Amino acid sequence: MIYTRDPSLVLPLQIDLTEEEREKLFEVWTVYTDDLVHPGGEELVEIPTEEEQENEIPGCSCCAEGRICSREPDAEGRSCECIEDYGQFFIPPPPKSPTSSSSSSSRVLSLPHPPHLPLVECGPLCACASRPSSSSCQNRLTQPQPSSSIQPPPTLRLHSSSIASLGISTLVHLPKGSFVCTYDGELISTVEARRRWEKQEEGGGGGNYIFSMKTSNGRVNVDPRTIGGIGRFLNHSHSPNVFPLPVHRTPTHRTVPRIAFFALREVNAGEELVWDYGDGEEEEEEEGKATTRPKRVKCFCDAGEGICSGWMPFDESL
Ligand SMILES: [Zn+2]
Ligand SMILES: [Zn+2]
Ligand SMILES: [Zn+2]
Ligand SMILES: [Zn+2]
Repeated sequence: MIYTRDPSLVLPLQIDLTEEEREKLFEVWTVYTDDLVHPGGEELVEIPTEEEQENEIPGCSCCAEGRICSREPDAEGRSCECIEDYGQFFIPPPPKSPTSSSSSSSRVLSLPHPPHLPLVECGPLCACASRPSSSSCQNRLTQPQPSSSIQPPPTLRLHSSSIASLGISTLVHLPKGSFVCTYDGELISTVEARRRWEKQEEGGGGGNYIFSMKTSNGRVNVDPRTIGGIGRFLNHSHSPNVFPLPVHRTPTHRTVPRIAFFALREVNAGEELVWDYGDGEEEEEEEGKATTRPKRVKCFCDAGEGICSGWMPFDESL
């Protein structure tokens, strides 16, 4: 969903910025969204094909049969078809400690997760889509809650950071494998990603936020710089505590995956959330390829000597 022209009004974040920092930020970042959008801001709507609609696939019928989309088999030994078909990636959360204020996620990702293997969630053609509450479906972890539900208190905090100008910290303890946020913004082609990147370099930098990930459907490039979600504040570190995964929000591999971040380890309240921008994406340079190798960018992460290479990773294939 695309919200307003003033992101500061709707952000699901605790914002701890000076007036100056705020102004600078919202000059560039003018629209907040929690989904992928076409360049310019139109919402990306993925319409099921006619065949899919006719056959009412892909989607599960758990809710139509009075069951819920559950990971655990019920008394009859049945769990959600979408989960059965695409993998049981989640484990029940550890018992809550009385001091833990962590609330939302009922499940956490089973780690280690195979790199780049997408998660597959229930979608618009599943019977659970028509249920008003999310309690009937345990397979929509990364999807925004229906807007009618009461907005929970923010669990993330935006502040100035020693790694880059701004960063995001968690206000609550995050169990390993828990969902953090998605990386939303304009979905652009690789050619456009390269064009924007070069343009930003020419203009003296000013922040390249383009996320580029190879998935089974090809490359997904997301630019949240002007129209985007809160993922844009996740800084790089050579010692990451969160990591990205592609997520299909309908039970097929054919749709454009969203990018979702999960806790790589237990993360304490107050820690800044950081991921490794390289994250196995770096490739050997193709022979003879005309390369516009960028100026290298210094890394200011706090991973420490021997772990931090001193330079930001760069995906040569972009
Ligand atoms: Zn189901
Ligand atoms: Zn389903
Ligand atoms: Zn479901
Ligand atoms: Zn570093």
